[in-house]
Amino acid sequence: MIRGADSRMNRANAGAIANIGILGTSAGAVVIDAGTSLGQGRAIRAAAERLAGGRIARVYVTHLHPDHSYGIAAFDPAVVATTAPVLVSLRSGLAAYADGLYRLLGAAMTGTEPTLPGTVVADGVEDIGGRRLRLLTLAGHSAVDLVVLDEVTGTLFAGDLVFHGRAPATPDAQLDRWRAALDRLLTLGHRRVVPGHGPVDPTPDTAIRQTRAWLDWLERTFHEAAARGLSLAEVGELPIPEPLATLAEARYELQRSAVHLYPGVEQRALGPVQRAP
Ligand SMILES: [Zn+2]
Repeated sequence: MIRGADSRMNRANAGAIANIGILGTSAGAVVIDAGTSLGQGRAIRAAAERLAGGRIARVYVTHLHPDHSYGIAAFDPAVVATTAPVLVSLRSGLAAYADGLYRLLGAAMTGTEPTLPGTVVADGVEDIGGRRLRLLTLAGHSAVDLVVLDEVTGTLFAGDLVFHGRAPATPDAQLDRWRAALDRLLTLGHRRVVPGHGPVDPTPDTAIRQTRAWLDWLERTFHEAAARGLSLAEVGELPIPEPLATLAEARYELQRSAVHLYPGVEQRALGPVQRAP
């Protein structure tokens, strides 16, 4: 695994914040997610070729967020794969991030163009060089999220459905679907989890339950805040309880989530004002 920085994207980390999985097979390397830029994608490709037999057999893209997908152009499109629903989501949403990324990361983005995977794979088992990889399309962190389970080692590459030691990001989240996806992940029978962000979880469920705890707290807090009539700015300053307060970027993600999710919660809580008959 190439470990992403546990912080927001900035020029110091050049946007390399997502974890990248690399597996060896007799057919070459399997890479899970492609990084944020052409430059990072090339570095991932070089590392995977060096570590796992000189060629890239497959690159899976888990979802449309640019820290996972903007490095696709560094690879032969024919080996870059995702499932049809993720491809639809990439096709409609990928290009929208380009301006913001160039502004945020500057020269680190040089030469990077949003690029689509060249191969569509179905949910189920793909055998690559004798390594059985189980693909499962879920949703909730974004509109569509792919997870990859390496059956040989019991390692679940969970993409951004699972964060570990780092507060979950919710810009495209649907919390009810995300919770359902986490429930499903708990049934897969894996042994460890490579989260989208944060350290490897050597247990099957610690990081999954931590992600769930954050989402549950977030939603409960927003509903209570709306009932109390708190403003968006006040919600962003609410205390974060232990142990959630110890997650990296907890305050930053609470404030981002308030911006994404609180207006909707507020609107539902306040309801329409009744007109006099
Ligand atoms: Zn994401």
